[in-house]
Amino acid sequence: MYKLLIILTLFISEMGFSQNIDFDKYFKDASLRFDYIHSGTDTSELISKEMFKLEPYWGGTKTKLISPFDYGNYKVVVIDSASSKEIYSNGYSTLFMEWQNTKEAKSVSRAFYESVIMPFPKNTVKIEIRSIDFNQKWTTIYSEYLNPNKDYFINKDKVPSYPVSQINGNKPSDKALDIVIIPEGYTKDELEKFYVDAKRMTEFLLEVSPFKENSESINVRVVLAPSEESGTDIPGAGVWKNTILNSNFYTFNSERYLTTTDIKSLRDIASTTYYDQIYILVNTEKYGGGGIYNFYNLCTADNKYSKEVFTHEFGHGLSWLADEYYYDDEMSEYYDKKLEPREANITTLVNFDKKWKNKLSKDTEIPTVINPKTPNKIGVYEGAGYTSKGVYRAYQNCKMKSNSTNEFCEVCKSTIVDVMEYYTK
Ligand SMILES: [Zn+2]
Repeated sequence: MYKLLIILTLFISEMGFSQNIDFDKYFKDASLRFDYIHSGTDTSELISKEMFKLEPYWGGTKTKLISPFDYGNYKVVVIDSASSKEIYSNGYSTLFMEWQNTKEAKSVSRAFYESVIMPFPKNTVKIEIRSIDFNQKWTTIYSEYLNPNKDYFINKDKVPSYPVSQINGNKPSDKALDIVIIPEGYTKDELEKFYVDAKRMTEFLLEVSPFKENSESINVRVVLAPSEESGTDIPGAGVWKNTILNSNFYTFNSERYLTTTDIKSLRDIASTTYYDQIYILVNTEKYGGGGIYNFYNLCTADNKYSKEVFTHEFGHGLSWLADEYYYDDEMSEYYDKKLEPREANITTLVNFDKKWKNKLSKDTEIPTVINPKTPNKIGVYEGAGYTSKGVYRAYQNCKMKSNSTNEFCEVCKSTIVDVMEYYTK
């Protein structure tokens, strides 16, 4: 019994400790950036180091250093070498895993430049990159000990000297969600237009619940970084523009999927200020965008749906919300129906207890039948995650489903609220 008590006490104090890491004991008020090449095929992956870099600002939390969320397909974990204690972790996603789902990945290998940031350690740490496979099993795919006081290869280049301007919020960065908006395809003469566009997008975002209720805790800054040419690349139409982030439509052959693989330029520009989330605003009228969890969000400025797309993509980038839309004609296999998806806002009913089951009223039938008279009835509606069968959503309509509404469903909302708390409390 005595022994058991000791073990229990140890276990509890261990848990308490891991949730209350003393930031100042382990970290400097700056960021460590790890840049690497992520390469492989549909069934293989390799992380190859590009560089470690010291960046002057840390925009993230200083109190919840171990992420409470199990979101994203990758995880960076920092372990204090002296005590073997985990002192920082955070999840994220990248384009690589999405690419692994493409046909191309079955026949060729491809490489993507990627980057992850963490607070800058004071002493020797072990840095691990973990990857989750299609059976939801985590594996460490890269690890390295880094002594920040001895390793003279840690890049200490100055940040670029672009002007930064704050357009919303004034809370300290460790008590706020910090969004940095970066212009893509705006020439020097168009930077004033960028400023106006970024302000308009911010106003749109702050009209939507639950951002509306949290607008004081959302810092938005813009970096005035010009491109040589206006617009962006449209490979399918033979349009190529010389722009600062080298973004393009037609990612993985989807015309509207707008992304960049120039992560080095992106991080360099973002490093001029504090940030938790990067938003790239692209100077074009064309419809499109993308949002990759804790990596970056991307949207076009002048399409009639730009404001809807801006908020939708931010659902992906900020909270790892899944797409709730689906195709009638196509049985997509993006989600394995034998497993519960890890995103909060869709379910295969394999482990519905983990999802919004406790939010349902007792008389709710599963699946729930569409009833236009009760648009805000929380239920289990079939069709989500690109497939009309076997994957379910909570509302008939939601921002993660279509551009026809400007509201997130209850489940998406409460997920965003949890993530907002992580950044602000
Ligand atoms: Zn939703």
